[in-house]
Amino acid sequence: MSDSIDTHADVIIVGAGIAGLVAACELGDRGKRVILLDQEPAQFLGGQAHWSLGGLFMIDTPEQRRMGITDSHDLARRDWMGSAQFDRAGDDWPKQWARAYLDFAASEMRPWLHEMGMRWFPIVGWAERGGSGAEGHGNSVPRFHVTWGTGPGVVAPFATRLQAHVAAGRVICRFRHQVSHIIVQAGEVKGVSGEVLAADSAPQGAKTNRQEIGEFEVYAPSVIVASGGIGGNLDLVRKNWPRDRLGAPPENMVAGVPFHVDGRMIPIAEAAGGHVINGDRMWHYTEGLRNWDPIWPNHGIRILPGPSSMWFDALGNRLQAPCLPGFDTLATLKEILKTGYDYSWFVLSQKIIEKEFALSGSEQNPDLTSGKWLEVIRARLMSRGGAPAPVEAFKKHGQDFVVADTLAELVEGMNRIAEVPLEETHLRRQIEARDAQVDNPFAKDAQVIAINAARNYRGDRLIRTAKPHRILERKNGPLIAVRLNILTRKTLGGLQTNLDSQMVGADGTAVPGLFAVGEAAGFGGGGYHGYNALEGTFLGGCLFSGRQAGRSDLIA
Ligand SMILES: Cc1cc2nc3c(=O)[nH]c(=O)nc-3n(C[C@H](O)[C@H](O)[C@H](O)COP(=O)(O)OP(=O)(O)OC[C@H]3O[C@@H](n4cnc5c(N)ncnc54)[C@H](O)[C@@H]3O)c2cc1C
Repeated sequence: MSDSIDTHADVIIVGAGIAGLVAACELGDRGKRVILLDQEPAQFLGGQAHWSLGGLFMIDTPEQRRMGITDSHDLARRDWMGSAQFDRAGDDWPKQWARAYLDFAASEMRPWLHEMGMRWFPIVGWAERGGSGAEGHGNSVPRFHVTWGTGPGVVAPFATRLQAHVAAGRVICRFRHQVSHIIVQAGEVKGVSGEVLAADSAPQGAKTNRQEIGEFEVYAPSVIVASGGIGGNLDLVRKNWPRDRLGAPPENMVAGVPFHVDGRMIPIAEAAGGHVINGDRMWHYTEGLRNWDPIWPNHGIRILPGPSSMWFDALGNRLQAPCLPGFDTLATLKEILKTGYDYSWFVLSQKIIEKEFALSGSEQNPDLTSGKWLEVIRARLMSRGGAPAPVEAFKKHGQDFVVADTLAELVEGMNRIAEVPLEETHLRRQIEARDAQVDNPFAKDAQVIAINAARNYRGDRLIRTAKPHRILERKNGPLIAVRLNILTRKTLGGLQTNLDSQMVGADGTAVPGLFAVGEAAGFGGGGYHGYNALEGTFLGGCLFSGRQAGRSDLIA
């Protein structure tokens, strides 16, 4: 090929997040020439994955077995299908992707990643427990494998592989290149065009400028869209909000993802023949804190709660099962919004915060992110009299936290940041009723039953679930209340694709030369989660769909 290596390649990838990186590495391994474009600067390599906790959904692993967990492909399939609740005519590709991912997660996934040097924290996390029946949503067993080194630990092996391909001249990276158009002529994909943005030395994850200083065009017969979802664009989130299922969208939300998760590339892909399905399926959390030390605009941090905090809606009414901490994200979101307010409350004791509060994100878990055992032991097992340092920092500086010695003082503090005042007597009655349930290892209260069940899992008993105790008893205090905001995160729908990650148009036929991977493709197929996610399946889907595209024979 005589065309300039700078402008002509076999494949163009739009987006240097984890999905784009995986595709680039796999293509590079096959000797393909790749141009990898990203609107952000080089220091943003890895996109959202850098900020992630690095949790991966895998099935029947040595980590699970060592923790006494019996998992199987069949159980995981039941859990996935019970959660996805696929019910649309257009769910054909998403369903095929779900099955293919389950096969991958139960077989090749771990050895492939292990071979690249990835390792996992030995205590497997139990996310999205469901709580509404064996055929409903949720993980029957713990499957959330936190990567050693968290998000950066997921990005690192691929960044290393990428570097080798760059050094060998197989992959060219172009940062600050914002794609605005996919060039299609006579039905054939020819390349992409867009604007070169001004250099920006912003720290990773911060908002960068959009000043255009030039234009560019690059050419290839195949283009892979790896541009992420829409969670950083709250207007788009509201526009796509499933009003029929969840009611009106929240007025106030915090952003759980950086500004670059802007959704801008999706209509550009549609204009070239792509087709978005399940745009109304999304995954936003109900335990968002306003970050006291923000990196990106309106930065929210999610609490990954253990099961013991009492959960009240804005009116002070306790949420009922399955709306328990860590059980059923979307059912809880629906219940919270039913009140007409877009926030809710955790009420807990110091004992609960010490053992059960974790925050999502690599920067909120410096011990796990460091990849050093000593750090982990110091932070998690030796921090007597306090929660891990990042949680304590939120307790101290976070505007959503109230700490008090008595319930009267607590409610007074809550009312200072509430939109609707709470009554102490109403809260007291509910907490006292719950407290009266904890003296036996059995109870009738659904949450107390769930706490006791959680402690049957060694991992939860060790680091995630406080011994049941009376929240109002002084010795367990001080009392803590946390105002929880809705936090945007994942886009479950996306560009429809077949199992080669090739886009499938509105008429159901494959679009030659156009591919989509990662969150842009709803993690595969245009929405392989269906309505609900089991967690760890976002990074998992990026790894899998990027690999499928990178290994596809359809990319010549
Ligand atoms: C705090 C946090 C914690 C998380 N924890 C977990 C977890 O533990 N487990 C899990 O499974 N998932 C987790 N996730 C979700 C997961 O990290 C993301 O879903 C995943 O990384 C998305 O990867 P991606 O490559 O599809 O997109 P992104 O990471 O969003 O990358 C897309 C890239 O495309 C670029 N781009 C977009 N449009 C254009 C354009 N027009 N031109 C050029 N470039 C463009 C963007 O700048 C960006 O770099 C977490 C996410 C966050 C933010």
